[in-house]
Amino acid sequence: MADAAQTDPLTGLSNRRGLEHLLATGGRRFTAAALIDIDHFKSVNDLYGHQAGDAVLCAAAAGLREGHGGVVARIGGEEFFLLIDRPDAAGTAERARQALARRIAADVPEVPRPVSASGGLLIFESRVDGASLDFDRLFAEADRLLYAAKHSGRDCMVTDRWQQPDAPPVGAVGAAA
Ligand code: GH3
Ligand code: MG
Ligand code: MG
Repeated sequence: MADAAQTDPLTGLSNRRGLEHLLATGGRRFTAAALIDIDHFKSVNDLYGHQAGDAVLCAAAAGLREGHGGVVARIGGEEFFLLIDRPDAAGTAERARQALARRIAADVPEVPRPVSASGGLLIFESRVDGASLDFDRLFAEADRLLYAAKHSGRDCMVTDRWQQPDAPPVGAVGAAA
């Protein structure tokens, strides 16, 4: 029962609830998080049908898993969230993003044109225990970066450093007026 509630039936990935549970449980440390969203997915459904759209989602999930051995969750319609525990977070996230496109091209012949994805990547200052991450804040920040990636033409990743919300701003000494 608990498993079913935390699993996306279409792709077999964790859903948002599963991801939040994994973070809250703690004991796993991460170097980065990425939000990855398929580009122009609505037009895939419109042009090739909802079933082809579902096949694209399954191939996207398989590609992300293949490109990134760590945590992958489907947290919305065509939005995926990655938690990365490797030192080369930027390379890992980019490999996953590209594996997604490759896998769609290979697995879904009924969609004859390339399907890409955009991403927002947050790199942590150090390896952070999942329990100390506030998912809502993490998601909001990653979404801001994803929005920037969409606006810079899609099929790319925008990266920033994660500022721990409770950490004082860099350079701050003592109380500010
Ligand atoms: P953008 O590049 O800006 O991300 O555009 P987009 O078209 O990907 O984004 P938009 O939010 O406009 O459309 C997302 C679409 O995803 C709309 C919705 O019908 C579709 N969708 C959501 N869940 C599913 C699903 O489980 N299966 C299928 N086939 N489509 C889905
Ligand atoms: Mg999209
Ligand atoms: Mg979306």
